[in-house]
Amino acid sequence: MLTLHFDGALQQLLPRKYRSKERVDYPLARRASIKDIIESLHIPHTEVWAMTVGDKELSFSHVPGAGEKISLHTFPNGVDVTQPTFLRPTPLPEAAFSVDINVGRLARLLRMAGLDAWYDPQLTEKELADQSAAHGRILLSRNRDLLQRKCITWGRLVRAEMPEQQLTEIISLYGLHRHIAPFSRCLECNALLQSVDKSAIVDRLEPLTRKYYHRFKRCPGCDRIYWQGSHHHRMQKIITRLTTHA
Ligand SMILES: [Zn+2]
Repeated sequence: MLTLHFDGALQQLLPRKYRSKERVDYPLARRASIKDIIESLHIPHTEVWAMTVGDKELSFSHVPGAGEKISLHTFPNGVDVTQPTFLRPTPLPEAAFSVDINVGRLARLLRMAGLDAWYDPQLTEKELADQSAAHGRILLSRNRDLLQRKCITWGRLVRAEMPEQQLTEIISLYGLHRHIAPFSRCLECNALLQSVDKSAIVDRLEPLTRKYYHRFKRCPGCDRIYWQGSHHHRMQKIITRLTTHA
């Protein structure tokens, strides 16, 4: 028998019969790594920040012996993915995301906040996993099987159900309040916007936009024109809330 202590947020991901228990007694029927064991309980390895026996940290390949007592810790808020950890010794150059179709609306909100969110609903699960890993992107999904794929190191099982709350969840988890930069990224294709002189695009503007707005940006990817007023009022409020709570 092996004893597993899951901390609060991880405990909530356990199968219902274990959810109210402080510890899970796990029968060791075969030789298995701790990663296989936690994923047999349907908790993706992406959700585990650290695993410890006493003061000693464990890697995912650790094969527990009978009688071992292992504590499993959830991600704290404000994780800096550019710093190595014992479990993830190769950090990411920055917090950039790829967004699964089951949280698709989150992609647009992340972009509205100026965060790098790659989204391609045409990809298969395997392609999405492979691309996320190859490009060093954090995979955001509500699909546990996808996050359990071997190639994935960085991912997040998105807990919130509503897109706005999902955005708050991701910004808090990865401590991105200071990275929020509205009006900097294309909502449609994720490219970084470039400033453009009004005179260069004035013939493409509606009369009222032409009259009331003076600062414009253009997407080098899809040629869309953006101006401050083009952002949805609701989003402005979300961004204000996020930045004032930083
Ligand atoms: Zn674009």
